[in-house]
Amino acid sequence: MVKVSSWGLLTNDEHDVRPFSQDLKLHNSSVKSLAAGLERSYGDAGLNPDGVLWSTTFLNKLISFDPDLGVLTVEAGISLKEIQDLFVPRGWSLPVTPGTEYVTVGGAIANDVHGKSHHMYGSFSDNLISLTLLRTDGETIVSSPEDNSNWFWATVGGIGLTGVIISAQLQLQKIPGPWLATETLTFPNLTEFFEISNESAAWENSVSWIDCVGVGGRGLFMRGNRTSEIGKGKISHSSPSVPVTPPFSLVNALTLRVFNELYFRMNSLKKEKGLQHYKKYFYPLDGIQNWNRIYGKRGFYQYQSVIPPESAKAATEEMLKTISKAKEGSFLAVLKTFGERKSRGLLGFPGPGTTLALDFPNRGESTLKLFDRLDSIVLSAGGKLYLAKDARMSREMFEATYPRISEFSAFRDPGISSAMSRRLLGS
Ligand SMILES: Cc1cc2nc3c(=O)[nH]c(=O)nc-3n(C[C@H](O)[C@H](O)[C@H](O)COP(=O)(O)OP(=O)(O)OC[C@H]3O[C@@H](n4cnc5c(N)ncnc54)[C@H](O)[C@@H]3O)c2cc1C
Repeated sequence: MVKVSSWGLLTNDEHDVRPFSQDLKLHNSSVKSLAAGLERSYGDAGLNPDGVLWSTTFLNKLISFDPDLGVLTVEAGISLKEIQDLFVPRGWSLPVTPGTEYVTVGGAIANDVHGKSHHMYGSFSDNLISLTLLRTDGETIVSSPEDNSNWFWATVGGIGLTGVIISAQLQLQKIPGPWLATETLTFPNLTEFFEISNESAAWENSVSWIDCVGVGGRGLFMRGNRTSEIGKGKISHSSPSVPVTPPFSLVNALTLRVFNELYFRMNSLKKEKGLQHYKKYFYPLDGIQNWNRIYGKRGFYQYQSVIPPESAKAATEEMLKTISKAKEGSFLAVLKTFGERKSRGLLGFPGPGTTLALDFPNRGESTLKLFDRLDSIVLSAGGKLYLAKDARMSREMFEATYPRISEFSAFRDPGISSAMSRRLLGS
């Protein structure tokens, strides 16, 4: 047995970790199992305490690539980093990647992840041609939006509960080079955020940082387009690491206030226009390995919601006020307006509206009480929470905000269970 934590470091329970074997049938027993990628989900989607965890990361072979069409077939344990490192220098890129490259293809499908290009290219499944699923009874199901589409849309965003994804066919995007022409704009309040966001619809990528400590909702809007221009500076392939987990969180009211002030000022002073390498623009947090340790031994939560367009501004304002009043706060407060494409996954998350993602050190009861207040705002605004980040949503909240749960349940693999499925689905 091995102790395993997810990215939020909230728990550290024993798991029977085994390298994934395609001969799952042999291993099928009364003990339930779960596929694991790189454990970059923040909460309990990728955990199965006291059960089996199939480690898929050595299932990382490239199967084929069609250079005319940009169609790549891979085993599902390959990381997005391995794909990008190989293909970006050859003029191809994944059109949709999350804020870290340390995610497997299986994990990206199982949460139907989104990124800074959502308004342009949708979510991961919008660029997924087909996937192969292995059920614990040994059945293999190949599915796509055209064939076995019910299996495809149950598995996309299906948090690993329909079987183990063993391979996938992906559509890559032709790119002019590894750099982006970027602009950083400051906004003093949410009204201006929404104005800039509307004006930026033609930019391929956009994301904002928002100061959730100060009043008013000031922030930085960062937008970027791929370019053939080449910027200055070397891209380091090794990154510093936070070496140990301190006994207490380094994120507190004082450090947060100072950090947010400095971050806003430094970036406001930066040249508005520039060139940024894709690694820095898309994955700034990958520059420091194990940065999650700064939150100390109690770990941290990420709270990510999406609110439909009609209520987005009012609800985001109310959430920011509630957080500021609670004197809890976040270094990493990210705001983005999604595009029109709604994830077709039965439990998919991205869709029209505005998403706010915030990290909070785990302070126990006071943090959980704050989340209850934020849940009421999200619920009454018609929004929902992202399963890839969640560790504590109630079953009632899940059922009220994910209307296709009973359809999804028909596709579950009876040999698979996770801490999240037991919490939210009862088994
Ligand atoms: C710094 C950081 C930034 C992030 N930014 C974003 C973002 O911008 N957008 C976004 O959408 N997400 C973001 N995430 C979340 C991350 O993209 C997802 O949690 C992703 O699913 C993690 O992939 P993983 O390989 O680590 O999978 P894990 O976390 O190990 O597993 C996630 C789920 O996938 C299932 N799974 C994994 N492999 C398989 C497989 N082969 N077959 C079936 N099921 C499988 C697991 O059972 C589990 O339910 C971020 C995470 C971090 C740490």
